[in-house]
Amino acid sequence: MIAHVSTRGGAGRRSFEEVLLAGLAEDGGLFLPESWPRFSREALAAMQGLSYAETACRILLPFVEDCFEAAELGELCETAYAGFDHAATAPLVQIAADDWLLELFHGPTLAFKDFALQLLGLMFERVLARRGRRITIVGATSGDTGSAAIHAVAGRANMAIVVLHPHERVSAVQRRQMTTVEAGNVFNIAVRGTFDDCQALVKAMFADTAFRREFDLAAINSINWARILAQTVYYVFAALRLGGLERPPVFAVPTGNFGDVYAGYVAHRIGLPIRRLVVATNRNDILARFFATGVYRAGEVVPTVTPSMDIQVASNFERLLFALEGGDGARVRTKLEEFARSGMLTVDSAELAALAELFLAGRATEEETRAAIRAVWVESGRVVDPHTAVGVHVGRRLRRPGEGPLVCLATAHPAKFPETVAEATGRQEALPPRLGDLMRRQERFAVLDADPAAIQGFIRERLGRR
Ligand SMILES: *Cc1c(COP(=O)(O)O)cnc(C)c1O
Repeated sequence: MIAHVSTRGGAGRRSFEEVLLAGLAEDGGLFLPESWPRFSREALAAMQGLSYAETACRILLPFVEDCFEAAELGELCETAYAGFDHAATAPLVQIAADDWLLELFHGPTLAFKDFALQLLGLMFERVLARRGRRITIVGATSGDTGSAAIHAVAGRANMAIVVLHPHERVSAVQRRQMTTVEAGNVFNIAVRGTFDDCQALVKAMFADTAFRREFDLAAINSINWARILAQTVYYVFAALRLGGLERPPVFAVPTGNFGDVYAGYVAHRIGLPIRRLVVATNRNDILARFFATGVYRAGEVVPTVTPSMDIQVASNFERLLFALEGGDGARVRTKLEEFARSGMLTVDSAELAALAELFLAGRATEEETRAAIRAVWVESGRVVDPHTAVGVHVGRRLRRPGEGPLVCLATAHPAKFPETVAEATGRQEALPPRLGDLMRRQERFAVLDADPAAIQGFIRERLGRR
């Protein structure tokens, strides 16, 4: 059994089940396994030809076996990925001689976040039933994460979900992906205010101890270890499909919170041969600057055509820092305190040099992003979304000749970002058939003021006193 520890060293040793339900550690740190299971080349080679769900079960089992046995985990993985509308679940598509797209947008909300959240919804449901517990998941969204979480929780027993979005400030497609879900345990609130107001309202709910206890509030945000873990699977799956044990791939990863690319790092730690992990950011480039200089310094967030990467402080960076500091939680805590005080932290050059063996990092401007969409379209007839295009641009720029296949993670379906795609290609991308009637479906949401009493009153009325 693998125990889990906090990156800040103050949460003892915890089981997978505790880590799944808790999300954040009590000391403010992020959970990580205390040690890494190791897959031999033979064990990896034996996974060649397995389905996505079967691969997931093999990779996840050593991490979760204190919580789920093999048969139960297998069943959860089959169910989680059965709703994806591509036979390969995560298909590889060739766009140039040695360049590939790994399409991660065939899940219910058309973005890679479904890979983790579909499985997490099922894991939560099992664990809650065992414990006889009911929880209310509360979150704020500026668009994408909210819909993936809603689709993961809709109709599941012992869970309800309440998602706040800023009224008239998310796109119609984004709003409808949340508000047209027909399930009695899904509640959407459009807040008269900004995304920051939504976040402040959620924070206020968690800070209200009586309310938090009454509704057993929980979060499914990207700091949950189980989300990262679920994402390691597609790195293994893709590498095996490319025959990558002999020619380890370069993965280009459009990056915001550093969750997805950290999952690639985990795949590397457990034994998957990976040539490089390319951290690709937009103009909000705190991570690209960090990998170039060893200085992690926050800047202003600027809006871009890749909104899911408009982030300046990447929460999962703390997990990498833990590795850099040799697993010493006290040192991580000191560095983060320094960052909170001064807005900056540094790592020494030996640490940075060790990182550069695996990680490359760079950024793409808006112009470069549009040009990459156009280039892929002209070369291959494939249309990529702007987030994917950031990865393609940076990956192609930084990969060195002869370094092995370039696998660009396609993190969203192009129809989610129709304006930018049309600017670059002149094409109007249609939603896939299963979402074709999205704009005609019935919506359900409440419009409320940015007032904690109004929001909590609504939740009490709809979910009932506990
Ligand atoms: C969330 C998201 C990202 C960024 O992923 P991180 O794990 O935060 O680095 C990139 N692209 C899309 C489409 C996303 O939704």
